[in-house]
Amino acid sequence: SAAVAAVTGYQPNHPPMNFQQTPTGQLFNANVFSTATMKKRLPKQVYKQLISTIEGGHKLDCSTADVVASAIKDWAIEKGATHYAHVFYPLTGSTAEKHDSFLSPDGDGSAIAEFSGSQLIQGEPDGSSFPTGGIRATFEARGYTIWDVTSPAYILENSNGTTLCIPTAFVSWTGEALDKKTPVLRSMQALNIQAQRILKLFGHDDGKLVSSTAGPEQEYFLIDRNFYYARPDLLNSGRTLFGAKPPKGQEFDDHYFGAIPDRVLAFMFEAERELFKLGIPIKTRHNEVAPGQFEIAPLFESANIATDHQQLLMTTLRRTAEKHGMVCLTHEKPFAGVNGSGKHVNWSMGSASQGNLLDPGDTPHENAQFLLFCGAVIRAVHKFQGLLRAVVASASNDHRLGANEAPPAIISIFLGDQLTDVFEQIKAGGANSSIPKGTLTVGADVLPPLPKDAGDRNRTSPFAFTGNRFEFRAVGSNQSIAGPLVAMNTIVADSLEYCATKLEEATGGDPSKLHGELQKLLTEIMNEHGSIIFNGDGYSDEWHEEAAKRGLLNLKTTVDALPVLETQEVKDLFTKYEVLSERELASRLEIYLEQYIMSIKVELNLTVKIAKTMIFPAAIRYQGELVSNCASLKMLDYDFDTNTLDKVTELVKSLQDGISELEAAAAGSESEDMLSEATHCCHTILPLMNKVRATADELEGIVADDLWPLPTYQEMLFIK
Ligand code: ADP
Ligand code: MG
Repeated sequence: SAAVAAVTGYQPNHPPMNFQQTPTGQLFNANVFSTATMKKRLPKQVYKQLISTIEGGHKLDCSTADVVASAIKDWAIEKGATHYAHVFYPLTGSTAEKHDSFLSPDGDGSAIAEFSGSQLIQGEPDGSSFPTGGIRATFEARGYTIWDVTSPAYILENSNGTTLCIPTAFVSWTGEALDKKTPVLRSMQALNIQAQRILKLFGHDDGKLVSSTAGPEQEYFLIDRNFYYARPDLLNSGRTLFGAKPPKGQEFDDHYFGAIPDRVLAFMFEAERELFKLGIPIKTRHNEVAPGQFEIAPLFESANIATDHQQLLMTTLRRTAEKHGMVCLTHEKPFAGVNGSGKHVNWSMGSASQGNLLDPGDTPHENAQFLLFCGAVIRAVHKFQGLLRAVVASASNDHRLGANEAPPAIISIFLGDQLTDVFEQIKAGGANSSIPKGTLTVGADVLPPLPKDAGDRNRTSPFAFTGNRFEFRAVGSNQSIAGPLVAMNTIVADSLEYCATKLEEATGGDPSKLHGELQKLLTEIMNEHGSIIFNGDGYSDEWHEEAAKRGLLNLKTTVDALPVLETQEVKDLFTKYEVLSERELASRLEIYLEQYIMSIKVELNLTVKIAKTMIFPAAIRYQGELVSNCASLKMLDYDFDTNTLDKVTELVKSLQDGISELEAAAAGSESEDMLSEATHCCHTILPLMNKVRATADELEGIVADDLWPLPTYQEMLFIK
């Protein structure tokens, strides 16, 4: 086809860029108003104040804002910027920007560059077209963007100009969060407060901020853009709604960690170069399991910055792919029958003085502080397993979870052999009070030292301990990581609060009682919440049975999972720690249900349209060819059979029936209630779409290749 010809004739059409031109050391942060740049450009006092805001969470004094604004402006203009943009993160999960020019007319026909503190700190985009889930009627569309001092401003380059970008929170004029960032900041604050209480119990009340950290691994597909534009389904819904399995799939496992194709490598170099300039510390890249699938991972950063960077990373991958004649697909399941894409969110917490609080050291049984933080996570994940499932729920991620390529929809924790053993001992030991003074003796002393880089990996677990952090693997590749981070920060804050309160009361401020009481507390946690720990094969049927016996939730679809956001315990959780008010939480449920319904309806419309206007015509053309061929053979008195014609005719009939059924089901829906509408989409529309697809995919295996209207899996996945 034309698409294949265009692909095989591809020539790189822009000058190659490489790291040699500018050493990496100079590239990193080149386009960021970083702490180092601040230090150089700001008066000492102003710099100090800004740093104390960033590091200590103190309020920014408005009078310094003008000074900062003017420094940022000068810096940006030196870098060629003509515009500035407040960047914000609406609940759609995407990134939004409002651009303004620095230039103000000067009255005498010239223009001067202006940028005041108030323009830096606050903006007012017309928020009416962003979903607010009922928080605000559209006639009162006032929404404000507020500078997030903790996330640095940066410059975005384009071949025709550059823009100063200022990361902001987006709130309504009543102060309610309309975005993904605000709750991240609030949840980090909640976690810090509770973690400080614990550190104080251990004698570490040095006041250093405890920050949650995140390192997201991003999986994605690359395909040639000629194929992309020839597939209305990919173009409009991000995934293929039709397409038979290629003769060679991923069963050979020869792509995983294989050599990276040249064009892809060129793309990676350029993407990484751009990301470096933006201060995004890219560390790893490799092929993933499926053909055409890759992964990129930065070093971990503070959760808030990691979230902003993650959004920027997805945008950069998409932009750069275009330049290389490809399209970057971040959908969770662009191709049926080959692995989908996830985003493993590595999560931990730490402070400048204490380091990583989830680092067990070589002898975890002696590391009481670690055991407490780890125990708090165990309790949190068990108690709020439904919430963790809800924050990764989307129409697209439903195709992955539980599909034997991604973790099951059942949330459990993989601890690995060593830690499981330590915690089992704690559970069996009960309250052991014969603790020799001076040593930390929670648990027993008989454990082997932690093998660094523990060989015990378990890809089937949705929430795995991986040496010094937890890795939340159920997150979808297209998702903002904000939701999962808000959930993790808040549920762990809740557990730390629980532990701190118990220990403060039980010890009455006497540090010598701490370890005995901690032993009791951890035993209790293991008894009540230990059933969340599972180190076995999460893909197996036995686990589904076992999990049911343990009373763990198995929320298979988005429709099952999202209502968790309405439960009293989740409302209580978020209001207690002032992360989300009831109204803010309810608005999120409404928006996520709406997004679910909209995605499936777009797919429904595309399925009908493609089936009717592309696949059906191809099928009857081929049927026509077969008919005239049979007629000719008959005229010549040849002996022949009509098997192919019969099969095509049968499939054409079932394609037509399938389309009619789907259309009827679509017309019969439109419920006022969002949840029942979503349920209808899940349990009626989707299966009927799959039925139409199954027929079409069978036709693909029969109809003449030159008549088939869509690029095939074989072409899309294997042509580089
Ligand atoms: P793998 O593919 O083996 O799981 P990668 O090296 O691809 O590992 O990714 C691991 C991710 O975990 C990286 O982003 C890394 O920075 C991150 N990480 C490491 N330590 C922490 C931590 N303390 N908190 C959060 N993320 C972390
Ligand atoms: Mg990983």
